[in-house]
Amino acid sequence: MGKNVVTSYTGGVNESIVVNIIRRQGPISRVDIAKLTGLTAPTVTNISGRLIASGIISECAEIGNEGKPISGRPRILLKINPEAANLIIVDIRSKEMTGYIVNAGLAIKEKVSVDLRKLEPEKVMAALEQIINKCISSELGQAVSAIGIIVRGPVLHKEGISLFSQSFGWQKVSLKFSLEQKFQLPVFVENDMRAIALGAYYYGKYYGYKNAVMLGVGWGIGAGIFVNGQLYRGISDIAGEIGHTIIDIHGPLCSCGKHGCLETFASEAALVNSVVSAPNVNISLAAKLADGDLSAILPEHIYEAAAKGDELSIKMLQNIARYLGVGVANIINFLNPELIIIGGGIVRGRRFIEEILLQVISEQTLDSTRSSVKVEYSAEGREAYMKGIADVVLEGIFLTSR
Ligand SMILES: [Zn+2]
Repeated sequence: MGKNVVTSYTGGVNESIVVNIIRRQGPISRVDIAKLTGLTAPTVTNISGRLIASGIISECAEIGNEGKPISGRPRILLKINPEAANLIIVDIRSKEMTGYIVNAGLAIKEKVSVDLRKLEPEKVMAALEQIINKCISSELGQAVSAIGIIVRGPVLHKEGISLFSQSFGWQKVSLKFSLEQKFQLPVFVENDMRAIALGAYYYGKYYGYKNAVMLGVGWGIGAGIFVNGQLYRGISDIAGEIGHTIIDIHGPLCSCGKHGCLETFASEAALVNSVVSAPNVNISLAAKLADGDLSAILPEHIYEAAAKGDELSIKMLQNIARYLGVGVANIINFLNPELIIIGGGIVRGRRFIEEILLQVISEQTLDSTRSSVKVEYSAEGREAYMKGIADVVLEGIFLTSR
């Protein structure tokens, strides 16, 4: 493997704090770093001097809006050196697997995708190794520092174990262990909802909110809980599994083996199930968009049908909104956050869920918690997932004291 600056620099806690803020919020001035971190100006100056000398960050002149030059003397800002590291990121979804090579500035240098629809579940692991091999054998792959993997379903992050993944029949798969053995690179694993939470929180416009919950609603439901600007991971590193909180003990069986989890009522999987099992599904536009094949109905068909006025699709989205509202109200009552960000695929149906969701929240939360919370929607695309896991990898490999 090629050497890069990341592996040749040793730093302490303050160095980590500074480099993380430059990675996430840069280009940023030394003054703003001091303000955001609480470190003194001389400490920031000293640390940034060492980071510049090591090649991890560099200085740049401030650029105005839309790339126009600043009138007067531009401020000098700090940014991450994009060449400080290359990472391989693999985003495993149930129907597709995408491998990326990204640099430390999170720019995508290469992207390869594999269709998983025709692959037997037991061959997914081999396909994952293949996609990593493909990335490593490319020209850029020679300078890769680490690997990040996104999987659906709960993950023990430290151990890098996928606890279960319904799509592939995985039970306690030690992704970190087996991939580190095979590729001799550090491997970091996160579940998809936590990945998008980190991506949207750190690289979106929400960084200023210290206490926030990013609720990812896709095929499953998960959350990233930010307390004082840091992701709260929990003692077993699995905090945020709001999708598996039970809202009806007599409810349907969930992928986790329990009954009536929020996920069985308010996820995209629940949305598809409710449309497919409706008596009038055959005359719905959602079914038409899937060429009449009910087993091929995807969330995107339902969003498109709803946008074109399909009654069944709209009704089922509104139904999802009621349950999602209960989930959000529970979070608000329990955590009293200042911000809830709803992200994931469900945002494509926002116009059909927004009003009902707010209605349920206003009915089911305590006045004092409700009045201090904002509910926003994040329309970040798939790249937010990639950014989230890349953030975890960079935090893991940059400046670890040794
Ligand atoms: Zn469950």
